[in-house]
Amino acid sequence: MELLKRQKPRKLLSLEALMRRLPENNVDEFNFYKDMFATQRKGYDGEVCVDQMWYEMNIPAPYYLFHSYESVNVAGYSHQIDTIVLTPHFIWLLEIKNMSGRLDIDESKHQLIRTKREGGIESFRNPLNQIKRHAEFINRKLRDFQTHLPVEAAVIIVSDYTIIGAIPKGNSIFHASGLQTELDKLFNKHQERRVSVGQLEKLKTELMNIHQRKDWKAKVDVRKLRKGVLCKGCEYKSLMIFEHGSFKCGKCGVSSKDAYLEALLDYRYLWSEWITNRELREYLGVESRHAIKRMIEKLNLEQTGTYRNRKYRIPDFFSQMIIVDLNES
Ligand SMILES: [Zn+2]
Repeated sequence: MELLKRQKPRKLLSLEALMRRLPENNVDEFNFYKDMFATQRKGYDGEVCVDQMWYEMNIPAPYYLFHSYESVNVAGYSHQIDTIVLTPHFIWLLEIKNMSGRLDIDESKHQLIRTKREGGIESFRNPLNQIKRHAEFINRKLRDFQTHLPVEAAVIIVSDYTIIGAIPKGNSIFHASGLQTELDKLFNKHQERRVSVGQLEKLKTELMNIHQRKDWKAKVDVRKLRKGVLCKGCEYKSLMIFEHGSFKCGKCGVSSKDAYLEALLDYRYLWSEWITNRELREYLGVESRHAIKRMIEKLNLEQTGTYRNRKYRIPDFFSQMIIVDLNES
């Protein structure tokens, strides 16, 4: 069995970089992004938690799991599906919610109301609308691929302590601990194999071919962001200075040849994925054009343009798709 591994969403990667480089002096702006980062992080942690459960699941057919699946529809809008379970009987789309307290869905107003444990209520986008939108997209794709496979969708609530309150009838929302039971129900409902093993393989490849991650950028003025190589050991609070081929922290004294890699990724997620030698020199605080040239050569970066206009592409290291053998069945 193969699996598209869970990856941090671009939005989370970008917010992580922002938390390192956004000055805290504009308190409102900083807190706005800090809250957004905390929400993204919590959601991602919940997804990772549910992913672990698949290793112990009993699945009576060949299957493929796609985690953090993303694609773009004809209108250019992104579909981010937390998990897709592809089997020869059906395809199952899962939206994973890591929220505490009590959750109620008001269908007439299309909102999810969360009542916090400590009191107070909050309103969110209705996850049922999200999964319906994804299901329509996948149905359309299946028609394009000329494949007939039932599409099912569900919302998984990570914690057993979250109370699932009033939910409109005919929708599948359950605690993660019920994953096996809900999967069994689906195999019971769809007993017939709709596609052959060969068709399943083809469908898997077609879904992978339209898997596409969209960039996300915060609406901040990049001129005020902190530049340079920031020391990980000092929680990114202090600057590292380049000397004798290494970056050295002025505060804790730690020295590293590769500390600029993380700074480079921050540049990719906050500024641009393309950078010139001069921009990189200014950004890293390295005076030597040749030292920068050596770093670029070492990374073997894709390039475009000639001489002074030459730009280098900072790769999205984390977004490379990794397919892992889970087990054979
Ligand atoms: Zn340090």
